[in-house]
Amino acid sequence: MIERTVKQIWETALGELQLQVSKPNYHTWLAKTVGVSFKDNEFVVSVPNTFVAEYLDNNQRSLIEKTLIGLTHKDIKVSFYVNGNHKCPAKESDSLDSLPKRQVSSPRLNPKYTFDTFVAAECNRLAYSAALAVSENPGKRYNPLYLCGGVGLGKTHLLNAIGHAVLLKKIQVTYVSAEQFTNEFVSALREKRIDEFRKKYSDTEMLLMDDIYFLSGKRQTEETFFHIFNDLHNANHQIVVTCDRAPKDLQGLESRLCSRFEWGLIADIKPPDFESRLAVLKARAKREGIDISTEILELIAQHPHQNIRELEGSLNRVTAYSTLFNAKITPELATRALEALAQKQTSTGSVNLTKIVEKVADSFQLSVEDLKSRKRGKNIIIARQIAMYLIRQETGASLSQISKELGDREPITISQACKKIASDVESNSSLRQQVTEIQQDLHN
Ligand code: ADP
Ligand code: MG
Repeated sequence: MIERTVKQIWETALGELQLQVSKPNYHTWLAKTVGVSFKDNEFVVSVPNTFVAEYLDNNQRSLIEKTLIGLTHKDIKVSFYVNGNHKCPAKESDSLDSLPKRQVSSPRLNPKYTFDTFVAAECNRLAYSAALAVSENPGKRYNPLYLCGGVGLGKTHLLNAIGHAVLLKKIQVTYVSAEQFTNEFVSALREKRIDEFRKKYSDTEMLLMDDIYFLSGKRQTEETFFHIFNDLHNANHQIVVTCDRAPKDLQGLESRLCSRFEWGLIADIKPPDFESRLAVLKARAKREGIDISTEILELIAQHPHQNIRELEGSLNRVTAYSTLFNAKITPELATRALEALAQKQTSTGSVNLTKIVEKVADSFQLSVEDLKSRKRGKNIIIARQIAMYLIRQETGASLSQISKELGDREPITISQACKKIASDVESNSSLRQQVTEIQQDLHN
């Protein structure tokens, strides 16, 4: 049998699964999973949190097992473990290296995200130059630096790269996601340690904050961030933030904070054009020693990827196919690997918006009209928020599509509802159970 690593088998399985579930479903539940061990027919998959573990266990176990059995011809049982909570057998401890780095909840920088591994291209030229300038002269130019752009375009990568470069100069740098900052703030508030919290951030020489939009609508956290921002700025200490949209589009964030962001430089990253896609693929293939011709890289780059993460996924898929079938990477093999993916991406998912609203209404014993109405009973509000959240998760519909489906709600209300439910399902097990049951129902 061909020697394959657990990681490769799982990457190939992910490629297959991508063809069988809807795109948003794949991104929510499967994209952040990693194959970590395969022993005695037990295939262990590492997942980012308990909610994902439960969802996959309840809804996609048989599909996943079928896919793995198809690939390995073995009678596989799959287990899902939350990162770090699974003790692998000693022999396989090296496979733990493939666990995803938890950059969101950990202040540690991701060692892979440096300037050396970042490909400067047309789509990110401004952001890249500004990030370099800031790491060379922190606090002097472009303070704050606001990096914005869609998902998977390299914002987190650049933010980490600045951190690495600045650490070399022995400058004290604090890297935090806005979500982690919020969680820390809430704990500090509860434990009456706000002064200590504020001091920790105000004393740093450089603050790197990822995904700043997470602060919107969280008044107290935002207020504290505002003061920290002023402390740092007054001391000429560098602040770099990332966001998926421009400051002016940050509804729910106070205008005084938005205008602070406009003091410095706003550098946006655009979706990659063909040349940028090819440059990224070439750099990656070279770095990882993948034996693949420019012709095939061009073939991959021709697919209309919206972001770099998807692009990397396509390259992984092609290399995984080659390992799995023990075949050289030829244009035919690459086309086969990518074709099925493209077909799936253009086909429509079976779950539609109306069906989701109906299922949620059913689950709460309400009518669809209740959910679309202006009524404000506690039960109705929660049901409506869950409907918004599930539509977003399952279909990736835009805020305005969701608004239309649910009786013309404000986009900010919808985005806050989605965030609220995403965080509530993590902490509230009965809500999690209910949401999971609705999802199960949707896919039956
Ligand atoms: P974002 O934070 O904008 O959602 P990330 O920084 O997480 O995106 O990037 C997604 C993936 O794409 C990461 O693996 C990252 O290393 C890679 N990536 C993005 N842009 C580039 C680039 N210009 N060069 C090399 N890799 C990139
Ligand atoms: Mg990011």
